[in-house]
Amino acid sequence: MANFNWCHGPECHKKHTQDRVRGVKGSKVLRTRKIKLNKWNENHFFRFFCSNHCYDNFASKYIEQIIAIAPRTEALETPILNPERKTHTYHYGFNNEHSYNRTETKIEVDETRQS
Ligand SMILES: [Zn+2]
Repeated sequence: MANFNWCHGPECHKKHTQDRVRGVKGSKVLRTRKIKLNKWNENHFFRFFCSNHCYDNFASKYIEQIIAIAPRTEALETPILNPERKTHTYHYGFNNEHSYNRTETKIEVDETRQS
């Protein structure tokens, strides 16, 4: 198995960077970046893409096909307990002389209704 991938970004070979320049004088090219496979990218999309830019380009160009892999035709739901709204008072400052209130809504998954 090869120990590298070519970047899958459809525009990768069009970016004007020095590290993409290849070939002999008179027939120079900008070439798709080669990505070495290693333990940092083995479980990440960065083993197929040299940058977020290339990943975004790929996703934008092929989004219809990507979505076709696992189309979402109806909303998913996660059962939760009735949300609890609570106001807490937080203190700060050298002698806790300042305070402010913050209202938070606690949302918890209802484990008894998991499918
Ligand atoms: Zn790239």
